Amino acid sequence: MFKEFAKGLSITLKHLLPGHSTTVDYPKQKLTMSPRFRGLHRLVPTQTREKCVACYLCPTVCPAKCITVESAENEKGEKYPKVYKIDLLRCIFCGYCVEACPVEAIEMSDKYELANYKREDFIFDKERLLK
Ligand code: SF4
Ligand code: SF4
Repeated sequence: MFKEFAKGLSITLKHLLPGHSTTVDYPKQKLTMSPRFRGLHRLVPTQTREKCVACYLCPTVCPAKCITVESAENEKGEKYPKVYKIDLLRCIFCGYCVEACPVEAIEMSDKYELANYKREDFIFDKERLLK
């Protein structure tokens, strides 16, 4: 019994040593997310506009049905999303929208601090998603 107690205590003491902690002093210290982390979405811009061609593939595959797209045509006859919105309160961060996009117009960033006070602040429109 004493042997197990000493073993447990040694593990606890080992984790108290500097450099062995698995917790971080958040929010002073931020985590570095893995490249595969799926955080807030980002609409990819080109030089003149967003890359999205409003093909409706991402709202079609989205299992949570939280993407709203309304397409329009610009003066050059190109389709673009007049409205592009994601309701983050419904999103399950599965990444299907990113996989479905044929022109790589949407990606998931490493932003994870998404807390807010009002429900409407969780609706990310085109302007917010292009940042
Ligand atoms: S990550 Fe998944 S749930 Fe969220 S918007 Fe994309 S497809 Fe929908
Ligand atoms: S799949 Fe890509 S191009 Fe199509 S509507 Fe979604 S973001 Fe735009």
